[in-house]
Order: sequence, then structure tokens, then C-alpha cells
Amino acid sequence: MSRSVLVTGGNRGIGLAVARRLSADGDRVAVTCRSGEPPSGLLAVNCDVLDATAVDEAFDKVEAEQGPVEVLVANAGITRDTLLIRMSEQDFTSVIDTNLTGTYRVVKRAARHLMRAQAGRVVIISSTAALSGVAGQVNYGASKAGLIGLARSLAREFAPRGVTVNVVAPGLTDTAMSTALADGQRERIVGQIPLGRMADPEEVAAAVRFLASTEASYITGAVVPVDGGMGMGH
Ligand code: NDP
Repeated sequence: MSRSVLVTGGNRGIGLAVARRLSADGDRVAVTCRSGEPPSGLLAVNCDVLDATAVDEAFDKVEAEQGPVEVLVANAGITRDTLLIRMSEQDFTSVIDTNLTGTYRVVKRAARHLMRAQAGRVVIISSTAALSGVAGQVNYGASKAGLIGLARSLAREFAPRGVTVNVVAPGLTDTAMSTALADGQRERIVGQIPLGRMADPEEVAAAVRFLASTEASYITGAVVPVDGGMGMGH
């Protein structure tokens, strides 16, 4: 395999694990990098998914360096956790704008080539929060549930063109995002996970890798949980 891949938010955490996994398989992998140091050995393009022009420019750079994007992994995401009663409109809209509308921006830009090529893969990173709900994550849960609706509608639009669209829904994963949780909150969640631990980012990357592979050619519109059994398949 040597496909042109773009992973949003691929400078750290789950996105970086996905990028490294696909790169190790022989793909040409670019990551968007909004801040911090670009990771070594990968093409890093500056991009804030809140900005449609920046998204367009990032795709232009990737196309120039490694060819049009054939595999898109929409991973960039944020949390702004607090109970509804304390949640400002800014807390709500910033999470929706990054996680949901940001994904709309990148898949829309990727669609230009994918529709023409009549082949390709889109994998969107949602969360078990979309499926089970989490107190303190009204904004995040709404954005991640929205991604499932987006993916399934897109799967139908893209299916006649041979492009699959799938969702990976990780449970608690060992990254900066989960480190930001209070110790007690993290331990309480881990206590509810049948496998009794958080996921490693590489375990999420393995599911993304499969859905992005040729072996997954007959899977589209699926939501694949990587959650240690927390949702028992849901
Ligand atoms: P991290 O906080 O470690 O990484 C988030 C990534 O998203 C960073 O690369 C960050 O860039 C990027 N990002 C955030 N906002 C923007 C933006 N506006 N434009 C471009 N990039 C942006 O989190 P994870 O690796 O844990 O999360 C990756 C995905 O997995 C997210 O969508 C998250 O919701 C999801 N997820 C995570 C779980 C977990 O427990 N960790 C569980 C379920 C789902 P920068 O470095 O510049 O901030």
C-alpha cells in the first residue's frame, strides 16, 4: 500500500498513533498540525479545522507533496467539559464547531478528489460518549453523535462512487485528553470497563487501519467501538 493519507490532529495522541501505523504499512501520510512540534518522519501541514481556508490550503499542500488524499482520517477534536447548568454558549458552540463542523469542512474538501477517483476511505473518530452519554459532556456528546449521522449520510452519498465512510468510537484512551480528567473521574470510568483499563492509542489505530484497508471494502456506515467492552458492541 502506498496511498496518500491525511490525518487531522495527527501531531499527538490517537491521530499520531494512526499516522504512524499507516506510515509503517507504507502509506504516504500527512498530518495536520495546529500547534506544537511537527512529528518526525511525517508530512506536517499547518491547519486549524475551524478555518475553511486553512483546510483548503492544507489539502493543496498535501496534494502537491504526496498526491490527492485517498484516505482521510478525521480525528481532530476537543472537549470543554462542564455540567449543562454551567456550560456557556461558547463552550457548546466551540466543541460543535471543532468536532462536527470541522469534520464537515475536511470531508467536503476531500470529496473533490474522492468522488472523481471513485475509490477511497473516510474514517471518522467519534466516541462512546455519543452512544452512552456522559454527564458533563452535553456539547461533546452532541458533536460526536452528530458525527455518526454525518458519516452514515455520507456513506450513502459516497457508496455509488466506491468510497467507504466509517466511524471508530473509542472509549477512554490514554492521551492528553483523558489525562485532563480528574483522577477520581478517570478511575470511576475505568471501573466500568469490562477489560479494566484505558485503551492505548495504538489499539484505536488498529481499528482505523482495518477500516482504511482494502480488506474492509464491503464495510460502510459502520460504527466500530474500541472501548474495552463498555458498550458491549453498541
Ligand atoms: P488529544 O487532545 O491528545 O489530541 C487532539 C488533537 O486534535 C490534537 O492534535 C489537536 O491539535 C487537534 N485539534 C484540536 N482542535 C483542533 C483544531 N481546531 N484544528 C486542528 N486540530 C485540532 O486527544 P486524543 O488524541 O485523545 O483525541 C483524538 C480524537 O479521539 C478526538 O476527536 C477525541 O474526541 C477522540 N476521542 C478521544 C478519547 C480519549 O479518551 N482520549 C475517547 C474517545 C474519543 P493541537 O495539538 O494543536 O491541540
